[in-house]
Parts: sequence; structure tokens; C-alpha cells
Amino acid sequence: MDKNQVLKKYFGYDTFREGQEDLIDSLLSGRDVFGIMPTGAGKSLCYQVPALMMEGISLVVSPLISLMKDQVGTLNQAGVHAAFLNSSLSAVQYRKALEFAKEGRYKIIYVAPERLLTDDFLNFALRADVAMVTVDEAHCVSQWGQDFRPSYLKISDFIRLLPSRPVVAAFTATATKEVKEDVVAALDLQEPVMVTTGFDRKNLFYQVSAPKDKFAALMDYLNEHPTEGGIVYCLARKTVEEVCVRLRSNGIAATRYHAGLSDAERRKNQDDFLYDISPVMVATNAFGMGIDKSNVRFVIHYNMPKNIESYYQEAGRAGRDGEEANCILFYAPQDVRLNQFLIDQESENDTFTEEERKLIKERDRDRLRQMTYYSTTNNCLRDFVLRYFGEYTSSYCGKCSNCLTEYVDTDVTETAQAILLCVKSSGQRFGMTVVTDTLRGSQSVKLKQNGMANNGCFGRLSGVPIYRIRQVMQFLESNGYLLVTDDQYPVVKLTQKSQDIFSGEPVFMKAAKEAKETGVKSEKSRKKPAEELLDTDYGLFEELRRVRMEIAKEERVPPYIVFSDKSLRDMSARKPKTEADFLKVNGVGENKCQKYGKKFLAAVAKWEAK
Ligand code: ADP
Ligand code: ZN
Repeated sequence: MDKNQVLKKYFGYDTFREGQEDLIDSLLSGRDVFGIMPTGAGKSLCYQVPALMMEGISLVVSPLISLMKDQVGTLNQAGVHAAFLNSSLSAVQYRKALEFAKEGRYKIIYVAPERLLTDDFLNFALRADVAMVTVDEAHCVSQWGQDFRPSYLKISDFIRLLPSRPVVAAFTATATKEVKEDVVAALDLQEPVMVTTGFDRKNLFYQVSAPKDKFAALMDYLNEHPTEGGIVYCLARKTVEEVCVRLRSNGIAATRYHAGLSDAERRKNQDDFLYDISPVMVATNAFGMGIDKSNVRFVIHYNMPKNIESYYQEAGRAGRDGEEANCILFYAPQDVRLNQFLIDQESENDTFTEEERKLIKERDRDRLRQMTYYSTTNNCLRDFVLRYFGEYTSSYCGKCSNCLTEYVDTDVTETAQAILLCVKSSGQRFGMTVVTDTLRGSQSVKLKQNGMANNGCFGRLSGVPIYRIRQVMQFLESNGYLLVTDDQYPVVKLTQKSQDIFSGEPVFMKAAKEAKETGVKSEKSRKKPAEELLDTDYGLFEELRRVRMEIAKEERVPPYIVFSDKSLRDMSARKPKTEADFLKVNGVGENKCQKYGKKFLAAVAKWEAK
């Protein structure tokens, strides 16, 4: 079988996506590879397809139990013999699985990094014919990354112990230079073929809004999208609790996830979400790495996260099936302060020296600033993120809330003058928050203590909304009229250009014509997805979803592992009558056709006969 046949037979797809063929061909020719692709791009197939074509076993090192379970579940559904070896197995189950592995029953084995150098596992691996070692989430090897895992450093030791060196494949969605270099070095990749695909996720709609009442905005969204499931990310555990309780009392089937819950509750809630029993998950950032649920239709950030990397990763959990999905950020200035506080509190990590720690904090503050710019910019959001990752595209995507908002040039000269005057008269000693609070005339104790309550600018902009003051301040900074220092407590300072404004130069800023309160305009603006499907028959789609849920319950697997939303949409459009028709549906391979063909064909026939 060639790679195209494998793709069709096991996975039910007709064509490869960007980057996949390069990686597959290189692996098959014996070259190491390093694939850097955004979430949802289809990294798994890049090693699963060659694994099925090579002689011998492929090992996949993966950091998370849930991820392994999901991947193995998907492979088994596709008719591939695969297993995982990690701490979720009992001692008996583990021994059994290793025995089967020794007998050569599995083509692909997922293994936790901590297991690699254990006696049991080595005993198996040194005698087995290991053809390929794949390292998933390879950025975990980097001490610079946010997800550093010391056990990942042992992978290269393990590979060196093997009697003959297998081909090594590494995959990640993190593209920064440090991480890339770390991965190549720490995994000892041999002249790897590097494939980086674009980071743009065309099916995602980006939106930032600053609702006065975040909860009301969330409810509006959920009421407008009653059949969809998704994730609501909050910064603090307390917020997760509050939002989850309020959603439930408003009749939403929500569940929660954060590090303060017991293992048992976390597992249960996660499963409820995966199985579509509780389609709305309210969680901290502890939730998500390795969550492969492909039909997450929205990711709403109830608070602004600490940096663009986190945001893109979390938001990227939406729409992995390539179908349209919304990524919405609710911004409030308090979120900036909360994040600042968290950075300052960051627990002392003793793998770092004093000097390194200082560097890391500085970098964190800088990243937070970029995140704040994203949240307040009036320019294209997609372009902003892609630029952040070093990709230059057009400055208009037509598929984000900014591109779809009508902006008008607004005269903000007076506000700008007041801001600069406040900075000047306070001796350029304070940060953005103090300046803003002073201008608004805030009654905070802090302003009394530092004397700003007596400053001539106190209360001068009391009639201007706080977000506008911040917007103008950020506009002034990004245009060189103000400078924010890089210290632990960043201070706002004047520049040479500030003089122009003092001398009366008018200041025009792009501002939204209509207030960006709530209201997701994505529906109207949704473009056709990249891999275009025929028109969905929504009635039939709902019926097929019901059939999928029945099967999922019987087999105790999450619904999206039976079929993705995309497969069901395609099915509802094609209305297959025969097995041959059924095989043409996106995501239907031979195994799934045999297993589920009858049930779905019957459902379609019944629908047509109505
Ligand atoms: P990643 O690991 O890069 O985040 P996955 O490997 O989980 O992404 O793939 C995301 C989704 O895309 C999965 O549902 C997968 O089946 C699907 N997919 C992967 N390759 C293709 C392809 N060539 N054609 C259609 N769908 C694909
Ligand atoms: Zn845009």
C-alpha cells in the first residue's frame, strides 16, 4: 500500500494537507524530521501513516495521559493496533500490555517519557524492532518553553541505548527560535528535515470585546449558539467556580476544571466534556494540553491570558476539525493587573539562577504587554498574532472583529494632551495604572499616598471611559509619543516626540464607530472553510449526531472519535445510499465503514423517506 492508500483506508481522507507529505516521505526515506505546525494542522498523521508502512514498531513519546488515550482510541477505531503505556494502567494491565507488545501485536505504542528508562520497558525495547521514535509536543524538552518536562531530557539517552538507531521524528506547535534550537539539540536530531507550515488557522474567527458585564456577554453568546460546545477560560480558580455555578443556574450544562479539584473530579468533568454530556467547560489553563476534542466550536477567554503564546495555544483548541469556530477574548483592564501580580508572584523555580530568574520575569512582563496590545488594538487581530510569530501577511484578514468593525478617525487630541501632561507633572515616575487612575479621579488610597490625588490633572478625564484612556495611551506608545520602561514596575516616560503634542499637533486615532460591546458578528461574516464541503442538511445533521451519540455510549468512546462533526456534515450533504457512497464521506475509512456504515445509512434512508 502506498501512502495515499493508507490515508484513505485507515483515516478516510483523500488528500494530504500542507507539510504532511514532505514529513511522511522524509521519514520513509530514513531521515529524521522536525515538524512545526499549528494545532489542528494534522501532525499525528505525519507519523501514523509512515508507522503503518514501515517494518517494525513505532514508539510515540507523549507527555499526557489524556492525549495518549485519545490518540490510541482514534487509531483503534480506524482499525490500527495501538496501545499506550503510562501510569493510568494498573500493574497488571501494564504487564499485559508489555507482553502483547513483545508478541508484536501493536504497530504503534504510546509511552510516557518517565517509562522509557525503566527496566520493564527497556527489557522490551532492546529486543524489539523499533523502527521509529516520535516525540510529540517536542517543545517540552526546552527549558525555555512553558511546558518544560525534565523527563523529556531522557529521550535521547533512551534512543542511544537501542541496538540500532531508529529514525526520529519531533513535532510541536511552538515556533520560537530558542525552542526550535533546544529541540534539535536535546533530541539529538540528525540533520532533520524541518517543515514549518503557516501558523494561520483559517477556520478560526478572532474577536476581542470589552463587555461591561462579562457574564451577560457569555450568556448572550451561549444563547445564540445553543447546540455548540466549547471552553471558557478563566485566570483564577475562584472565577472558574463562580462562572460555572452561574452558568448552571442559568440552565447551561457546564462543568469545571482546575488544579484545585480532586483527580477523580477532574477526570470525570473532562470526560463529561469530551463525551458532550457537559458541552461547556469552564477551566483555568490547567485544562487543555492534550485535549484532542475536535469539535470545540468556541474558546472564550473570560480573562485575558498572560501572553500571546498561551492565548494562541488555548484559542487554538477550537475547530481542530477544520470547521468554523470562534475565539473570543473578553478584555478588562483589571486582567492586566492580575497578570502582573501573577508574574511577580511566580514561584521561585530552583533550576534557575537569580540572574536567569530576573531575565525570565522581564521577558514575561514584555509578553504581557504584547498581549495587552492585542486586546486593545484596532488593527487586524489575525495579522497581529501572525506577526508576533514572525509571519508577515496582509494587514486585513476580513475574518476578525477588527476587520469587520467600521472605524473612523477620531480626534483624541485633548485626551492625549491630558495624558502627557499628567505624565510630565508627576515627574515621569508612575506606570500606566496610576496615570489612568489619576486622570479619571479615582478615589483609591494609593493615589492619596503617592500624592497624585493632589495633582493638577486629577479627575481631568473623569468623563472619558477608562478603556478609551488606555487605548489612547497605547496609541501614543506605539507611535513613539510615550515610552514605557522595561523594569519590574514599568514607568511611563515622555519622548522627544511628546513635544509635538504639547505644541498643539492634533492627534487622530482609529476608533470603532459602534462601541464594541458584545455581539458576535461572526455568523454573518463566516467564510467557507478551507477544505470545502457540500451544503449541510441541518435536520439530518442533528439526526446523525444522535446516532453518533448512541454509538459513542455503547462503545464508551467520545462521540468525536466515532466521527468528527465534519464527517457528519459531509454525510448530511451527500446523503449516501450505498457503502460505496459512504466511503466517499470525509473521514470514512474502511474500518469505520464496516463498523458504522449500516447504522448511518439506515438513518439517512429513514430521513429521506420522511
Ligand atoms: P495536531 O496534532 O496537529 O493538532 P491532529 O493530528 O490532531 O492535529 O489533526 C487534527 C484533525 O485534522 C484531526 O481530526 C485529523 O483527523 C484531521 N486531519 C489530519 N490530516 C488530515 C487530512 N490530510 N485531511 C483531512 N483531515 C485531516
Ligand atoms: Zn483581521
